[in-house]
Amino acid sequence: MGQMLDDVRGFSRGMYSNWFWHRPLQLLIDAGEGLQLALGPNVFSPSVLAISHGHSDHVLGLPGLIGARRFGKGANEKPLTILYPEHSRGVQAARDLLGTSYADVVFPLTWIAATPGTSMPLGKGRTLEAFSVRHVPDEPALGYRVVETKRRLKPEFASMSQAEVEAAARDGRREALLEEVQHVRFAHSGDAMPIDPSLVAGADLLVHDATFLEESDRKYPIHATTEEALEVGRLAQVKTLVLYHLSIRYDRATALPALRAQVRASGFSGECWLLDEGELVALQAP
Ligand SMILES: [Zn+2]
Repeated sequence: MGQMLDDVRGFSRGMYSNWFWHRPLQLLIDAGEGLQLALGPNVFSPSVLAISHGHSDHVLGLPGLIGARRFGKGANEKPLTILYPEHSRGVQAARDLLGTSYADVVFPLTWIAATPGTSMPLGKGRTLEAFSVRHVPDEPALGYRVVETKRRLKPEFASMSQAEVEAAARDGRREALLEEVQHVRFAHSGDAMPIDPSLVAGADLLVHDATFLEESDRKYPIHATTEEALEVGRLAQVKTLVLYHLSIRYDRATALPALRAQVRASGFSGECWLLDEGELVALQAP
């Protein structure tokens, strides 16, 4: 498994429970049931939880997470910020439960109602941004991406030796040598139809809805197919693509070979995995 995937954990069973944890970013996407049990001693690690939409398989782990951080042994005063789609009824229902059950939550819990374009700093030059996605009409849904800004030598100076760069910096010309570049470190579609590839161009890691193996199985335009998710990955040239939310209607013994054939035929050249329950399943030959 690639180094990057050592840094992430998740669980996905569509309609049951979905969450994804990016350890270096201390960022959780969604809070399906069982989240706090799976995180174990790391339950205090996440600083930000970004909720894609209010369906039960994405929010019912919230009371458990808050309870574990409220009553468990650990950093009980560590703040947690929760971004969620503005006007989400499902999130409001979970929040009402917290209000009545855990009224004396002591750690700072900050709720941010997000709309497409809402952003918040994550530190270290990173920004979490919400973007628009297409899911069901009556429950607002968002995707999220983490954009990292780095400074690097301008290309025209790339051939300078280390000594020349240091000399230029001593002469006060350091700023003139550098440029800022942004790249997408991580993105998550939430439950959605295929997202706009330009939002995730060159992403290190994209987690994308891939509910249906066949388009003919899709009754309503609310979830992507595996092939659509692969096409987003190909167009955006993402480095690692994790498909998630594959419907449990598909028997894995036959679905996995079919999905691997789709990956081979897709022209997607990055790494590709399926998050299935708590496992990252390789979809390419090693
Ligand atoms: Zn879902």
